[in-house]
Amino acid sequence: MQLEKYSIGIGDRFGREGVAQMEAIIAAQKRGVEITPVWNKSNREHTIVGTLPDDVRREADHAVQATGWKGSYRVDADHIGVKTVDKFIASADFFTLDVADFIGLPASDTELDAFTASLSAFKGELKIPGIAKSFTVTDDTIRTIGKKYYAAAKEAGAIYRHILAAKGAGAFIVEVSMDETDKPQTPLDLFFILAALAGEGIPLQTVAPKFVGEFHKGVDYIGDPAQFVREFEEDVLVLAHAVNIFNLPANLKLSVHSGSDKFSLYPGMRSALLKHNAGIHLKTAGTTWLEELIGLAAAGGDGLEVAQEVYAQAYARLDELCKPYATVVSIDRSKLPSPAVVNGWTSKEYVDALRHDQSCPAYNVNLRQMLHVAFRIAAEMGERYMSALARHEKIVGANVTENILKRHVEPLFLGSSK
Ligand SMILES: [Zn+2]
Repeated sequence: MQLEKYSIGIGDRFGREGVAQMEAIIAAQKRGVEITPVWNKSNREHTIVGTLPDDVRREADHAVQATGWKGSYRVDADHIGVKTVDKFIASADFFTLDVADFIGLPASDTELDAFTASLSAFKGELKIPGIAKSFTVTDDTIRTIGKKYYAAAKEAGAIYRHILAAKGAGAFIVEVSMDETDKPQTPLDLFFILAALAGEGIPLQTVAPKFVGEFHKGVDYIGDPAQFVREFEEDVLVLAHAVNIFNLPANLKLSVHSGSDKFSLYPGMRSALLKHNAGIHLKTAGTTWLEELIGLAAAGGDGLEVAQEVYAQAYARLDELCKPYATVVSIDRSKLPSPAVVNGWTSKEYVDALRHDQSCPAYNVNLRQMLHVAFRIAAEMGERYMSALARHEKIVGANVTENILKRHVEPLFLGSSK
């Protein structure tokens, strides 16, 4: 089972927007670019929303059938480990093996000796085709990287073999993710991480390193976009080289766990991908849920009321909601309007504050981040929230489609707006 050159991870918290998400993929296809949709959902999200992996499979199958999509599509067991993977085995055909928690765990001296010895051919001046500078590699370089990442690679091997035993060879796509950690991995780290993953016999098709800079949820990149793009391009070249020398799958590509909306990075990423004829998996986060809120607010009446109530409850429970996302949100409370103010807002005021349009003076990055982590509130509202979505399906769906198409697919995959 092979993942195509371009793919996009489209999380959908409540599983209602699959068709609207597909409309964006179909629009891209009509404009000449084939993108494989991948419905990703992590164990953390399932737990908070109260859904099961089978629900995601049902949503994906339904969306594809309803829209007549003839291309590939996948269901991603996102950020799983040995302890959480079992309930995803039947429904997923894409597995993101998250080994970030194993970074820095000790490896034995015997393991580190063997790892260092097996890579001694790369000692000296390491040249990666396409990268102008060379890297100076000593035993110590390899051993230091091994100390940091060998245990994580070994764990990835254990998770992979666990899934392999259940599903059989070739029946699923493997991604390895190391993004949910505090220190970024350099292109040289990535080179030796790929060596370790190849050593574990993992046929990985995508890899998600932690890139330089901050990738907060639902908001633009925080950091130096030029530095990001430089390292991103080097990572692309490292992958191309690693495929050849470590005998990894030829379609191996980067997976960018973007947290969504990294608009300032898309143009540079696009240039690097085109320059090196490389593929990409863009994993977006739960911004489809924010488009639901935008659609409800825009609908006015009972829709706006639900959106206002979500805001009020989120405001009251901010600490609790942020806890699972502590490293990927940064909210300035003093910039959050009080619920009393928001309760008096018109549709337009709510939408303008929430929609990710940096040119709009009313856009509020703090409000957006708070609502991003507030999907638990909507999950608790249950039927009231779901029935509001159903009543305002059209306007919600239009916002979902437009968000994926205009803000993500166009700048990264199409390179222009219509
Ligand atoms: Zn991630």
